[in-house]
Amino acid sequence: MIKEKLIRKLRVVPGKGIRLRNFETGWAQNDELKIHEKGEVKERAAEILETNRLALASSQELLWANNTHSVLVVLQGMDTAGKDGTIRHVMSGMNPQGCRVCSFKVPTPDETDHNFLWRYSRDLPRRGEIGVFNRSYYEDVLVVRVHPELLDNQQLPPGKRGGKFWNARYEDINAFEQHLVRNGTIILKFFLHISKDEQKKRILERLETEEKYWKFSISDLAERSYWDVYQKAYETMFVKTSTYIAPWYIIPADYKWVARTLVADIISSRIQSLDLKYPELSAEQLKQIESAREELKNG
Ligand code: AMP
Ligand code: MG
Repeated sequence: MIKEKLIRKLRVVPGKGIRLRNFETGWAQNDELKIHEKGEVKERAAEILETNRLALASSQELLWANNTHSVLVVLQGMDTAGKDGTIRHVMSGMNPQGCRVCSFKVPTPDETDHNFLWRYSRDLPRRGEIGVFNRSYYEDVLVVRVHPELLDNQQLPPGKRGGKFWNARYEDINAFEQHLVRNGTIILKFFLHISKDEQKKRILERLETEEKYWKFSISDLAERSYWDVYQKAYETMFVKTSTYIAPWYIIPADYKWVARTLVADIISSRIQSLDLKYPELSAEQLKQIESAREELKNG
């Protein structure tokens, strides 16, 4: 497991303003994650990924057996930040029965006919489940804040769309999360932090590799031109919505395996910190098991 000291560096302290440029994107230097020499990287990465895949699988089983808590993983990041790959990794060792992934796109007319949190609440994980949101209600203070004209399609009552309006959204989000936490949901929010150069490399890769053409969307380029505005929207969002009960983690994501390792590790350590045990059986139930065993053996 990765040391708590290191994880703490990634967590956004509630109420504290941050500058994203002060958070490394290409970071991979730590005793455990160290990139020694080029040749060694892949092997070491595979080893770490396998270890935390197994740790996650066993944490998930305990969560499932207890059926008291759920885990909501929120994944945000600029286009190409590696959200899909991270989900594939995190889910790879899990029992499909106990996890679900929901991806949120531009809201449909049916969805904008409701309050903005409605569509997300419909897809929350049940007790015992791990739910991953690939994009989330945070888009409503990110893409929508960067392009406020999107609000025009949302059937909202008339009114000013200034600071007060956005502050109300952050407040609503915090209240929504508080409600979930009080009801047994653990909320982990990850921002996959890539550099602008790394994004360029990844978009080019999509444009130059036939098998990756499908991943390219023309909006990736359009949104890229708003890079700085997005970074600012993210910074405001962190200061308004990183809370003790549902903190944000800024994950260095220029190296995909580093991001995947950190995310998987934080999820599994958080579940382990609940100190769940397999449900205990009563003396009566144990007796039943014993007699069932005998019956089956002798039958
Ligand atoms: P992708 O994740 O690449 O499939 O793209 C999904 C698209 O949906 C992105 O361009 C998001 O910005 C957009 N999107 C997601 N949620 C919202 C929202 N609440 N309002 C507007 N656009 C959204
Ligand atoms: Mg996309």
